[in-house]
Amino acid sequence: WDFHKKILTEQFSLSMIEEETAGAKRRSGIQEVPCAFFVFRAFRTLYIQTERGTRIMEKMEQLYEGKAKKVFRTDNPDVYLVDYKDDATAGNGAKKGTIRGKGVINNRVTNHLMRMLEEKGIPTHYVEELSDRETLVKRVAIVPLEVIVRNVAAGSLAKRLGLEEGTKLKSTVLEYCYKDDALGDPMVNEYHIAAIGAATPEELKTIADYSMKINDILTEYLKDVGIELIDFKLEFGRDKDGKIILADEISPDTCRFWDVKTHAHLDKDLFRRDLGGEEEAYKEVMKRLLGE
Ligand code: UDP
Repeated sequence: WDFHKKILTEQFSLSMIEEETAGAKRRSGIQEVPCAFFVFRAFRTLYIQTERGTRIMEKMEQLYEGKAKKVFRTDNPDVYLVDYKDDATAGNGAKKGTIRGKGVINNRVTNHLMRMLEEKGIPTHYVEELSDRETLVKRVAIVPLEVIVRNVAAGSLAKRLGLEEGTKLKSTVLEYCYKDDALGDPMVNEYHIAAIGAATPEELKTIADYSMKINDILTEYLKDVGIELIDFKLEFGRDKDGKIILADEISPDTCRFWDVKTHAHLDKDLFRRDLGGEEEAYKEVMKRLLGE
């Protein structure tokens, strides 16, 4: 058994193999099972229609499942496939639910904004949208930081500084949180970041410069569709050459979008705060940005 377990473990996750073993033991009533379990997994072949014809690629094994997305390997080692889910969490996983249609909207909105940012000189991980929920992205090593950019006081900043939500900040605020769920993503400054080696000072300068530029571009862009950009979260990664590029998503899950006139929330705060209407709000963002 140990021999087979080793081989299988190298190909699939340990928890999956042990689950299979436990299930089989339960089903058979046997204490020890002296044989191998074969886990068959069919990779999905994707036929991608391009201007130059049909391209074939393999959606291979799942590498990671996060709160809102799954990441799969592909037959190109430099490209991963992201699959957006409708699952929603808040308060570091304390609240769980579903926002119907969210995966499609976040995928399409993110890609739309990433394409626009690329055109304006921000390097991103975006490669190609494959379907409503699936997108090819460049493989990166994620810098373990959440970069938060704020134009107006809201959420945790309003609470921390005793500001009324909606107070315009006199200048843009940049915050960093160390990505670690077990620690609750603690806020860190540039000294902590250098001290723990999360990013070099040069990388952090690039990240800060890009974040400020992204804020300027997005603020202007969203104003044209009647959305005020209150604050948002970005993540960056290192590509295969070690270059810093924008990764993750830009969506109503990761931004605070307020209607310019009514100040109605068009983002995940509706879910976080049990206000309701999140499905309609997400749809409204997609309609304003993509016209559908
Ligand atoms: N944010 C995010 N993921 C997180 C934490 C925050 O995308 O894990 C976004 C959030 O949508 C908001 C901004 O970062 O646009 C600032 O969030 P804040 O620190 O105010 O936290 P919250 O009030 O959500 O706890």
